[in-house]
Amino acid sequence: MTAGPIPAAEGAVSIERRGVVVIGGGPAGLAAALGAKRAGAGDVLIVERDRSLGGILNQCVHDGFGLFLYKESISGPEYAERLAEDAIREGVALNMGTMVLDLGPDRLLRLNGPGGYRLVRADAVVLAMGCRERTREMIGIPGTRPAGIWTAGSAQALVNLQNLRIGREAVILGSGDIGLIMARRLTFENIRVKAVLELLPWPGGLERNVRQCLKDFGIPLSLSRTVIEIRGRERLSAVVTARVDADLKPVAGTEETVPCDTLLLSVGLIPENELSRGAGIALSPATGGAIVDETLMTSSEGVFSCGNVLHIHDVADWASFEGFVAGRSAADYVLGRREAGATVRVTASGNIRYVLPHAVRRGAGGTELSYRVARPARGLKVEARGAASGRIYGRRILARVVPSEMQKLVLRAPVDEDIEVTGHE
Ligand SMILES: Cc1cc2nc3c(=O)[nH]c(=O)nc-3n(C[C@H](O)[C@H](O)[C@H](O)COP(=O)(O)OP(=O)(O)OC[C@H]3O[C@@H](n4cnc5c(N)ncnc54)[C@H](O)[C@@H]3O)c2cc1C
Repeated sequence: MTAGPIPAAEGAVSIERRGVVVIGGGPAGLAAALGAKRAGAGDVLIVERDRSLGGILNQCVHDGFGLFLYKESISGPEYAERLAEDAIREGVALNMGTMVLDLGPDRLLRLNGPGGYRLVRADAVVLAMGCRERTREMIGIPGTRPAGIWTAGSAQALVNLQNLRIGREAVILGSGDIGLIMARRLTFENIRVKAVLELLPWPGGLERNVRQCLKDFGIPLSLSRTVIEIRGRERLSAVVTARVDADLKPVAGTEETVPCDTLLLSVGLIPENELSRGAGIALSPATGGAIVDETLMTSSEGVFSCGNVLHIHDVADWASFEGFVAGRSAADYVLGRREAGATVRVTASGNIRYVLPHAVRRGAGGTELSYRVARPARGLKVEARGAASGRIYGRRILARVVPSEMQKLVLRAPVDEDIEVTGHE
C-alpha cells in the first residue's frame, strides 16, 4: 500500500530523527536489527505492522527451522522467540502495530500506529517486509467463485493460529514448500488430501518436504497436471484437473473431475516491494526484489534489503543470515565506515536463473553469491567467470540440483571485472 508523495500540508508534522530503521520484524528484520546493533549502531528501531515479532514464522508450528543458525531443529515460533529475545535484550527499539505507509526521498518514512500518524527521518533503512502469496486471480483458474479456496499460507494461519477446521476433502495446487507442509498438516487434522498437483514436471518444494510431507503419508503428487475448472455454488464441490503439455497447456482428453470441498493454492510467492517501488528503488525482474550490491544496499543510498522481500528463501536461516549482513552494512553506513568505490556487475546465464548480489565493489574478495537454477540438473558445473579475462573466481560441481534449493558460491579472489555465473551440464 503506497500512499504517494508526501503532501505539502504535512510540512506541519514534526519529523522524528532515527538511526537505523528496519521495516518488518520477521527473521530477516530481527537479524538485521541485531546485525546493526552488534556492529555499533546506537539507535536501531524495528517497525512492525503486526502485534508480535517473528513474521511468517509464528504460523509455522512444524519443526525444521534453525538447523544452520542454531544447529538444532526447532519450530517457527521458537525460532522467532529466540531472535526476538536477543533483539530486546540487546536494546533494539520496537514500534509494534505500526505500518510503514511510504518511503520517501532521503529516507523519510510515513508511519501509522497506536501513537497515530508520524514522520520519521532515518539515517539508514533496512527493507525486510517479506512476501505475499499468488492468488487464484493471478493464475486465472476459470469457474465459479465458491467458498473453500485458500492460499496455502492463509489456510496455515486459519488452522495453526485460529484452530479452525477448514474442510473435509482437499486438493492442493502447487507443490511449493507451503503446499507440501499443508498437505501433511491437513492430514493431521483428519482432512483427506486427495492430490497435490504440480504444473511443472518437477516438484516446486524441497525434496525433504516431498518425502516427509507427501510420501510418508501416502499423498499422491501429480506432476505436469493443473486445475482447469472450479465447480460449486456456495461451497466448492469439485475441481476439474488436466495434464499439461511441454508448453504447460492443458491436453484435451486428460480431464478428471475430483470431488472436494477445499482447494489450497501454493503457486508462488511475491516479494512485498510496494514501498520499494514507491521509493523508486530499482527492482530485478528475475527475483522481484531490489537490485543490490554485496553490502545489500539497493539503488537508493542508505537503503538496504534482506530476506523474502529481496528474493524468496526456502530456509529461514538464509533470510536471517542475509539480515545480519544488511544490518551490519546499515551500521557501517550510518557510522561513516562504508567503503566507497566502483562496482562490477554480476550476471547469470545458462541454467542459472538468478544470482545475488547484482554488483560487487571492485577489489572486494570473499563475496558469497546466492543463486538458483532454472531447472533440475545432475552434474551441473557452476562457474563464476571474469567476463573480460575468462578467469575463474569460483567453481562448484553439483551432483544433483533443483530450483527449490538456494545455492551458494564464494568469489575466492578480489574482483576487478564483470562476473558471469554460468551453469552447464
Ligand atoms: C508458510 C511458510 C512456511 C515456511 N516453512 C519453512 C520451514 O519449514 N523451514 C524453513 O526454514 N523455512 C520456512 N519458510 C521460509 C521462511 O519462513 C521465510 O523464508 C522467512 O520467514 C522469511 O523471513 P522474512 O523476515 O523475510 O519475512 P516475514 O517472516 O514474512 O516477515 C516480514 C514482516 O514484515 C512485516 N511488514 C511487511 N510490510 C510492512 C510494513 N509496510 N510496515 C511494517 N511491517 C511490515 C510483516 O508483518 C512481517 O512480520 C516458510 C515460509 C512460509 C511463507
